[in-house]
Amino acid sequence: MTTAVDFVELRVVRVPLRQPFANSVHVTTDKVAVLVTVGHEGIEGYGEGVMEPLPWFREETVDGALTVLGEALVPDLLRHGCADPAALADRWTFVRGNPMAKAALEMAVWDLRARQQGVPLWQALGGDGQPVPVGAALGLADGEGALIETVAQHVEQGYRRIKVKVRPGREQDIVTAVRDAFPDVALSVDANCAYTLADTTMLAALDRFGLDYIEQPLHWDDLIDHAVLAAQLDTPICLDESLNSPERVTAALEVGACSVVNIKAGRLGGLAAVQRAAEACRRVGVPMWCGGMLELGIGRAHNIHLATLAGFDLPGDTASASRTYTRDIVNEPLEATAGLMAVPPGPGIGVTVDRSFLDAVTVTRHRHTGASR
Ligand code: MG
Repeated sequence: MTTAVDFVELRVVRVPLRQPFANSVHVTTDKVAVLVTVGHEGIEGYGEGVMEPLPWFREETVDGALTVLGEALVPDLLRHGCADPAALADRWTFVRGNPMAKAALEMAVWDLRARQQGVPLWQALGGDGQPVPVGAALGLADGEGALIETVAQHVEQGYRRIKVKVRPGREQDIVTAVRDAFPDVALSVDANCAYTLADTTMLAALDRFGLDYIEQPLHWDDLIDHAVLAAQLDTPICLDESLNSPERVTAALEVGACSVVNIKAGRLGGLAAVQRAAEACRRVGVPMWCGGMLELGIGRAHNIHLATLAGFDLPGDTASASRTYTRDIVNEPLEATAGLMAVPPGPGIGVTVDRSFLDAVTVTRHRHTGASR
């Protein structure tokens, strides 16, 4: 049966981070997010876009996403409704690329549909709803002393994996310091595309630290160089930025570009894309984990639900919201205990919006209705 959609609201919010978060590309001080609300007969579903104001991660931007959503995807949804959220990705191939814009709207429809049916999102997706093992992703610190202190706090809190950001010239010092202080902790590094094949010898020198994986060492859209690099390292390579569709995940696995996969619904194009990518990974026994984009409560809740799908066998980035924000846009605290994140109970993504705080952090807001088209 086709679900009609009465309205779609696109809202841009700006929420300060508790402290700046640095990787090899950019320092984030405020989270700017596109929040999508879809409504029908008094029930609302929510999605959160992970595109940034400027293309620091992949090409999509907040302004570009608002155009794609407002002028193409939202009118399509209002005009035709939705018979099955899993079919939207295929229906929206008339818009080239822009997986993050598509995901923000598609995820809101999944949430709406699950709430209408009175089932939790994990059930609609085919997950198991069990608590999700999580690790901590730590930004570039001012020095190794400060980093070790931060690692110690997270190890004490029970996080199941520590991932540290690295950049050229700092990687050996950073990893040596953490490994010396914590010989047994599950450890990985994320380069956010900072290296080239010319750095192969230096990256191979990280093999002695027993890392779980090196995340996205090379170019943000590359598969082939990663396959060349993977053949020369003992440490597994995990891809993040390069995987912008389920088809790219399949291709990466076929060429041997990675042996661990970071799943992000926004980057892949939505929850149906996550299901397809997860199926591709399970078929060849490659472990997955759910990555993070400093999500607010709506995106974080979606991540928790999707990470209960089969094959998410490594700790993900969906750590406690309070690590990143002093106040979140949802009422339910999304906090990990001993490295486990419980799935928010109730229909859909299981969280409710803190309306007064949401209004306080809103930059722009536009409501689309079928009547306006
Ligand atoms: Mg990453």
